[in-house]
Amino acid sequence: MSIRINSSKCIGCGKCSNICPGNLICMKGKKASIEFPKECWGCTACMKECKFEAIELTLGADVGGNEASMTVRINSGRVEWKIAKGAERVNIEVDPMDSNKY
Ligand code: SF4
Ligand code: SF4
Repeated sequence: MSIRINSSKCIGCGKCSNICPGNLICMKGKKASIEFPKECWGCTACMKECKFEAIELTLGADVGGNEASMTVRINSGRVEWKIAKGAERVNIEVDPMDSNKY
């Protein structure tokens, strides 16, 4: 499980780099880059910080299949997870106030 950064969407704000607890993301020029993707443990902090949906998480076979990926958008305080696998699309909307109930 690791993130991928879509450089065409990245505007170089640096927020993902600042929040990663493992210091795995660095800025190269005006684009974010993950140096050691295998070290990423998929906490999704960088994804939630990025306002441009420039970071996606590739999902392991145990949670979605090897070809599935996930992006996230914060919309009016709600968290919208978008999962894509081939042509399949699933959207999951979560109220952060409820997220610790499960
Ligand atoms: S938070 Fe998003 S837009 Fe900002 S540097 Fe990171 S990937 Fe780029
Ligand atoms: S998912 Fe977590 S560990 Fe992986 S790069 Fe983003 S903030 Fe760092």
